[in-house]
Amino acid sequence: MSRIVDDLIARAQAAGDEAALAWKDGAIPGRRFWDGVAGRAESLSRSGVAQGDRVAIWLPKGPATVETLFAVMINGAIAVPIDPGFPAARATAVLGEIGPAMLVTDGKRRDMLAGGAVERSRVVVTDAMEGSEPGGDPLARKAIGEDDPAMILMTSGSTGTPKGIVLTHGNLAAFSDWAIGQFGLTREDRFFSLAPLHFDLSLLDVLTSQRLGASVYLVGETEALFPGPVAMALERQRATVFYSVPTTLQRLLSHGGLADRDLGALRWLLFAGEVFPAPVLAALMEAVPEPGYANLYGPTETNVVSCKLLDAAPELGEKPNVGLPCPHSDISIRDEHGNKLATGETGEICVAGPTVTQGYWRRPDLTASAFSDAPDRLYHTGDYGYFDEAGDLRYLGRRDRQAKLRGYRVELEEVELTAMDTGLVEGAAATVADGALCLHVVAHDPKAFAPSALTRALAERLPRYALPDRVEMHEAFPTTSSGKVDMQALAECAGGTDA
Ligand code: AMP
Repeated sequence: MSRIVDDLIARAQAAGDEAALAWKDGAIPGRRFWDGVAGRAESLSRSGVAQGDRVAIWLPKGPATVETLFAVMINGAIAVPIDPGFPAARATAVLGEIGPAMLVTDGKRRDMLAGGAVERSRVVVTDAMEGSEPGGDPLARKAIGEDDPAMILMTSGSTGTPKGIVLTHGNLAAFSDWAIGQFGLTREDRFFSLAPLHFDLSLLDVLTSQRLGASVYLVGETEALFPGPVAMALERQRATVFYSVPTTLQRLLSHGGLADRDLGALRWLLFAGEVFPAPVLAALMEAVPEPGYANLYGPTETNVVSCKLLDAAPELGEKPNVGLPCPHSDISIRDEHGNKLATGETGEICVAGPTVTQGYWRRPDLTASAFSDAPDRLYHTGDYGYFDEAGDLRYLGRRDRQAKLRGYRVELEEVELTAMDTGLVEGAAATVADGALCLHVVAHDPKAFAPSALTRALAERLPRYALPDRVEMHEAFPTTSSGKVDMQALAECAGGTDA
């Protein structure tokens, strides 16, 4: 049976006046929140959503979104949170990939979708679900197994369309159990949820908080854009647990006045997803000395599999230390033939254990290339690393062209293929330096080519964080001696036109 769903139902049954969510300046008591979940669960089953069906949720973060997420999971359906900032074309591509039985969205986003993206009868505008009186017992336990899919998280795909990572109920429970034990989380904690719901970071703040019966502050869509108000909310809410990405923490420090806030209540500042530059981390630890710091490592396909508790910022030049494997994870370093390597030897980081996900939704080809089954299910992360003498995992970077932009995972091939799809260029190559994306292009007609037209066309197809910071036009791409595009030479190119 799904322990996550069992725990959520137990919370719903025990809910009273204590806050489940904090939203804007108010608190939403547990009873009201769980009544909302029950109403939505009822509304979904009345609409014919069955166990195993996908329900896409394309909404900005807020109480209604979280209620819908839990309603879907409790019904045994599969929740697919879609980035609320996606342009219509990308949301349409995701819906096509997932084939949802139902799309829950708001009026604005429904109107953005072209007719045919999802049949009208399968679109519910979230307000229409509100206030529906629960009939029967919408929170009755269903036979949901640990191996049943609970969520699909969409991530950038190197083939040009996003791919969906399928997380089971057991995957979610394994991560959540570990986090509760590792950080001593309790129902007294106040979680701070800034990460979007389609990002696995929110499995800590949104899901684990509710599993514990703790409260979580949801940072709203507009508030999230401004570091000053986010830092103020951290103080005002007396948050005790905050899990974020280094890019965001850096922004809160440099533009949000984090150092001026009283964050005495904060017990844990956790980060994951990318290398935290040592000097910035040192400045953060000095500005906000109160909490414990931990660097968590793992791709969405495995969730967190190692953790480094930090007393001090790393030394300059030290290889990024992502810590000891979590008790649930079996991490090995392997060569290109899959053989295990010894301590100190560099190879691909591979992971087995209960947080390793099933693979990619309806993409057996991609699943087979990244996961193997001999003898245990093993995920080949595409990350390079080694174990040092102390048993800590050192992270050395990617094997492929996956990059982190503004904290988000982006396959550079996807940006290139999307640029080609616009029809405005005959060649496109993306490079990243210092977190900025440069799109190198060869135009069909250099005289008529306007970088701003390309950027506009890309904005209709790609999420904001994947848009180029600059576009650089070339007559022809430099090539290597084997005739391939010389990416190294392109990366070294100076100049360009700001996009
Ligand atoms: P995502 O699936 O968005 O979490 O991105 C996964 C990738 O982010 C991993 O494969 C790593 O390359 C990188 N990553 C995740 N955690 C860390 C970390 N703590 N330090 C450095 N890189 C990380």
